[in-house]
Amino acid sequence: MREPSAAQQGGQSRRSHRPAPVRPPDGPLVDLQRQAGNRAVTAFLRGGASVQRAVVAEYGEIQRRLRPGTFGWVSDTDEYWIIRQLIGIPPVDFHDTVIRMQADGVLGTFFAELPSDARSVAGTIIARIERIRDGRMTAEEQLTHRRRLDWVHSPGDADQAFAALRGLSDADRTAVLRAIPVAEYEAWSRLLRPRTDPGELRFLQTVEVIAQGTTEADLAARQRAFLLRQAQAQGKTLEQFLRGEASTRGYGGRRALWWPSLRPARQQRWQQRFTTALGRVRTAAPPEVLAALTAAEGRGGGIRFGPQQVEEEGADTYAYRQGDLLVVGRLWLLTAERNPANVFENIVHELGGHHDYGRELAWDVMLDATTPAERAVAMAGGQSLYSAYGYLETELYAELRELPFRVPGSRGDDPEHDVEDQLRQIHTSYETGVGAVVVRAFRRRIAHDARITPAALALYDRKVRLVFGIGF
Ligand SMILES: [Zn+2]
Repeated sequence: MREPSAAQQGGQSRRSHRPAPVRPPDGPLVDLQRQAGNRAVTAFLRGGASVQRAVVAEYGEIQRRLRPGTFGWVSDTDEYWIIRQLIGIPPVDFHDTVIRMQADGVLGTFFAELPSDARSVAGTIIARIERIRDGRMTAEEQLTHRRRLDWVHSPGDADQAFAALRGLSDADRTAVLRAIPVAEYEAWSRLLRPRTDPGELRFLQTVEVIAQGTTEADLAARQRAFLLRQAQAQGKTLEQFLRGEASTRGYGGRRALWWPSLRPARQQRWQQRFTTALGRVRTAAPPEVLAALTAAEGRGGGIRFGPQQVEEEGADTYAYRQGDLLVVGRLWLLTAERNPANVFENIVHELGGHHDYGRELAWDVMLDATTPAERAVAMAGGQSLYSAYGYLETELYAELRELPFRVPGSRGDDPEHDVEDQLRQIHTSYETGVGAVVVRAFRRRIAHDARITPAALALYDRKVRLVFGIGF
C-alpha cells in the first residue's frame, strides 16, 4: 500500500526546516521486513525460488519525491520514506532499483539531500547503495544482488566468489546458481585455484548438483524409488534387497590359513623382513608418498604388517586400511622387497587418496534415500552397505591419486581397469540420472583438486564417456 506523500497529506510546503523526526528504527522497519518476507514467501510458493527481477513497486513515487519541482528541496521525511522502501526487499530488486535511480539521474539528489543523521540510522543500507553506485559490490553482493559471475577475472576473484557462495544459505545459493549463465559459471570454474581442503572440495560437488538443476534431496528421492523398484522386482522388502547387495559386494568374513600355520620363529623372521622393507620404502619414497606416510604416522597410524588380518579380508587381499593404518600382508611385503617403488601407488592410494577424500556425495544420497532402521537390517549380516554404495566414490578418487605412481606390472591396482569398474558399479547401483549427476559432481571436484594430475583427469573423462556416454 502506498503512503500518501507529505505534500498530499497537509498541503504544507515540502521545504520544511523541521528537524527530521527521530525514527524508531524498529517498528515500521520490522513491519517492512515482515512484508518483504511475506512477498518473498508468496513468490516462492507461486512458482519456485526465482524472484521476478524488478525495481520496487514504489519506484514511481521514489522518483517523484526526488524531483521536488520548483523548490529544489527534498525533505528528510521523503528521504527516510525512500530508504524504508529499500529495506527488506529482495537483493536483486534492491540492486535494480539503485541502478535505475542512477540511470534516471535521481540517485545524486538522493545523496545530496541525505538527512544529517541518515548514516547513523541507516548506515548499512546507504553503504550498500554507494557500493552499487560505484561498482564496488562485494563478492556476496555480486552474487545475491546481480546473480552474476561476470566480474570474476582472476584466480583471486574466483576464490572470493567461492567463499561467498559457501557463505550463502542453501536457498540463496540455489537461487543464485540457477540464475548464473552457464558460460560465466564455467569461466569461474576455470579460474578457481586448485585446492586440497576436503570440505571445500566436497562443496564443489554441492555446487555442481545445483548447477545440474537438481538438489541432493531430489537425488535421494529418485534413488529411493530406484531401490524400491529393484526390491519389488525381486519380490523383496527394501531391507532384504539392500542386505543382498551388501553381502554380494561387501568385504570380510574369510579364514586365515597360511599365517596361523607358521611357527613363531618363522613369523618373527617375516616381521623382520617387513621392518627392513619398510625402511627401504621410506628411503626411496618421493615427496608425495613420504608426506602421505608421515602424515598418517603423525595421526597414530602408518603401515603395519598384519598378514593374518589381511588373509581374513580375502585370499587375494594385498592390504587394507583402517583409518590411518595401512595393514599389509605377505604379498605386499614380497612386492616391496622386489622394488620399493612398486608399493608407492598403494601407499598414496590408501593413506593419501582414501584419507584425503572425506565425505562422498553418493553415500550422502544413500543416507538420505534410506532410513537408519533400513540400513541396520541391511547390515545385520555383517557386510557393509557402505562398501556396496558409498565406497565407490572414494575408491575412484584413490585410484586417480595413485596413477602417477603406478609401476606397470607391479601388484596392486590397475587404475585403467579399476576406474572403469567403479564407474560401472556407480552406473548399476544408482538410478541413471542420479549416477550421471554423481559423476559430473565428482568431475567438478577433482578438476580443482591440486593432487589430481592432467593424466588422471583425462583417464576419468575417457572412462565416463565409455560408461555413461557423458563428455566433459
Ligand atoms: Zn581403495
